[in-house]
Amino acid sequence: MDCIFCKIIAGQIPSHKVYEDDQVLAFLDINPVNHGHTLVIPKSHVGDIEEATGEQLSSLALAIKKVGRSIKEGLGVEGYNVTENNGSVAGQIIPHLHFHVIPRQAGDGLKLWPPRGNYQGTEAEDILQKIKIN
Ligand code: 5GP
Ligand code: ZN
Repeated sequence: MDCIFCKIIAGQIPSHKVYEDDQVLAFLDINPVNHGHTLVIPKSHVGDIEEATGEQLSSLALAIKKVGRSIKEGLGVEGYNVTENNGSVAGQIIPHLHFHVIPRQAGDGLKLWPPRGNYQGTEAEDILQKIKIN
């Protein structure tokens, strides 16, 4: 399969490894939002969250927690963002599931996406009827 992240896992493309275990690899993003921006990926290829098994998601969550702690302690930052672009419409460019862990410091100038505005009238109830899991 012609997947750049699978090639990184296989060692065919070099990377700066932050963390590795049986299930997960974490490495520096080549084009960081902030220095220390790390990608956490499953070693078995899956495209996105819906394709991932519960076991994969569990191991990714545990690795994210380790990487986040290491980023805070190692870089002396106060926090970090964890994001995942699920699907090309959401900004996913590499079709191998990956979580971004982005170090954050007060005044670093990064802006998250803007709010759309409060729900009006019955909008929240209408949306809830469509997405509520029973
Ligand atoms: P996406 O938009 O798919 O959520 O994010 C893909 C990320 O992968 C981007 O932040 C991009 O900088 C990173 N990336 C793309 N190619 C490479 C690569 O060859 N090596 C590394 N380390 N990161 C990459
Ligand atoms: Zn892959």
